[in-house]
Amino acid sequence: MAEVIIIGAGPAGLSAATRLAREGVKVLVLDREAEPGGIPRHCAHSPYGFREFHRPMRGPAYARRLVAGAQAAGAEIRPRTSVTALHPGGRIEVTSPDGPATLTAPIVLLATGCRETSRAARLIGGEKQAGVLNTGALQGIVHLNHQRPFQRPVILGTELVAFSALLTCREAGISPVAMLEPGPRITARAPADWLPWALGVPLRLNTRITQILGRSRVERVLIQTPDGPDEIACDGVILTGGFRPDAPLIRASHLELDPASGGPVVDPWGRLTDPAYFAAGNLLRGVETAGWCWAEGQRVAGAIHAALKGQLPPPGGARLRIASDAVKLAVPQVIAPEASGRLQLRLTRPAKGRLRLIQDGVTLAETRIDSLPERRITLPLPTPKGSGDITLTLAE
Ligand SMILES: Cc1cc2nc3c(=O)[nH]c(=O)nc-3n(C[C@H](O)[C@H](O)[C@H](O)COP(=O)(O)OP(=O)(O)OC[C@H]3O[C@@H](n4cnc5c(N)ncnc54)[C@H](O)[C@@H]3O)c2cc1C
Repeated sequence: MAEVIIIGAGPAGLSAATRLAREGVKVLVLDREAEPGGIPRHCAHSPYGFREFHRPMRGPAYARRLVAGAQAAGAEIRPRTSVTALHPGGRIEVTSPDGPATLTAPIVLLATGCRETSRAARLIGGEKQAGVLNTGALQGIVHLNHQRPFQRPVILGTELVAFSALLTCREAGISPVAMLEPGPRITARAPADWLPWALGVPLRLNTRITQILGRSRVERVLIQTPDGPDEIACDGVILTGGFRPDAPLIRASHLELDPASGGPVVDPWGRLTDPAYFAAGNLLRGVETAGWCWAEGQRVAGAIHAALKGQLPPPGGARLRIASDAVKLAVPQVIAPEASGRLQLRLTRPAKGRLRLIQDGVTLAETRIDSLPERRITLPLPTPKGSGDITLTLAE
């Protein structure tokens, strides 16, 4: 019987599996896909692997290397196995080609990643025609099925993943007709905006899609621009970014979900509100780099190893409450005095000012920030003086 079951064979799950198996822990990794490797398996482009293997790699090669590393360390990886329910104490339900089953382990690590915002959640009107994909689906169709779903799509969004979609289009011989960004500037860091320019794809800021039109296939999109409504002829739409943790399992379970991050409530060790469960990777907050998720998997594996030996501090600590509409999320949400590490934040909008962490009227930590939305902001974890709530404020 496994001592640790890991749900999700992406960079976070595989890195945790490798570290635990190297420590002699019996690990079982489950993934619903036919092959392990997570998102990088679909991303034929670079750069993956700098932090882990000290060189740039393409996604599929990086995924193969992570899988080989976990297996060489002794972890068992079981693909085509979907986890369908989580119960108290590390009991989970799975379904696979062998049928449904119940598995139990002293510790279960959730590493199910994140997903892009759907068309429905973006409130884009129009008919439900073929040719509207998110980046993940596009890359699956292009790299795994070797098909070209459209020839002249519009790309919506300018997070880093939108530029990944551009590269996928280029490799597949697809020519996007425009890249649209609802905000006044691109979300990814400059010089990402150089890429559409170099590929001859017009980048239109302050522009959003209001409707996608076409009967069975996409024929055009209606857009709202600073100069008023307009339209673009196209045969597809790529909806990029707007990542949210892939957390339906948690929503349907006894585990507490954090409404701000969309992921589980975790303490500094990655432990959830039921101490039989831990989490790492993009499930915690939406998209990060693979290297970041890999490092998170390593760190949480260390905590799991300590928990198996009874060496982790008992659960509990001060809860972090966000009291600023500019702050989108903060991870971890439970802060304990024994923990070191960093608090990770993201903003909803561009903001600058003094960020304060206050407990019982006492400022535990403060720092100045000046950041755009969706950028990674980190600061040292504060040391709480008790279990009272810690309030996070931003004086702009
Ligand atoms: C289009 C795109 C391009 C990117 N390009 C780069 C890049 O160039 N460089 C870089 O560093 N990062 C890049 N990233 C980010 C990077 O790929 C991710 O941060 C990383 O893969 C996250 O790792 P993870 O382990 O948290 O999740 P994932 O890689 O998403 O893995 C999660 C796994 O969990 C499995 N799973 C989910 N639910 C269940 C369930 N119920 N039962 C069983 N299995 C389940 C999934 O099948 C999946 O295999 C890119 C991301 C995207 C979307």
